[in-house]
Amino acid sequence: MTPSLEETLRSAIRTIPDYPKPGILFRDITTLLGNARAFRRAVDELVHPWAGSKIDKIAGIEARGFILGGAVAHQLSAGFVPIRKKGKLPHETVRVAYSLEYGLDEMEMHRDGVLPGEKVILVDDLIATGGTAEGAVRLIRQMGGEIVAACFVIDLPDLGGRRKLEALDVPVRTLVSFEGH
Ligand code: AMP
Repeated sequence: MTPSLEETLRSAIRTIPDYPKPGILFRDITTLLGNARAFRRAVDELVHPWAGSKIDKIAGIEARGFILGGAVAHQLSAGFVPIRKKGKLPHETVRVAYSLEYGLDEMEMHRDGVLPGEKVILVDDLIATGGTAEGAVRLIRQMGGEIVAACFVIDLPDLGGRRKLEALDVPVRTLVSFEGH
């Protein structure tokens, strides 16, 4: 029997306990990326609802969002725009502070990365508290971009990130969920 999408993806994701800190179960997607079938299925499923629609840009969050976002952009014939930690982008940027588990950090996008009215899909590997994705949504909207959706391979539903994005009127697509942190 062909394994379901959820089984294919779940079994391709490696879990590393106590990384980077005690108590965290790190969901490592390098094993999924290294598995040709799982990688292709993940990208195909992420883009599925928008196949054939006109999407201008895929915004990927550093760093794993770059890998998935590049593949998604190719599949949808869209451009790709990187969202990076502060100080990494060479041209003029817009910047936003976002909340991490402990404290704040800042992320940036090139000022001309998204043009007013462009339709944008946000991509990252995983949504936990949603603080990172919320910061990215604010940056894209600041540029006048229209967020069509945010897509993640993994959801940690106990941390509430999906609800946080939906409260900002951002439709959320995720493929596999894991309980707990
Ligand atoms: P958050 O802002 O809390 O939604 O965290 C999402 C960001 O942190 C994503 O870029 C994830 O790659 C990373 N992240 C958070 N928790 C985990 C986890 N348990 N395993 C792997 N990556 C994580």
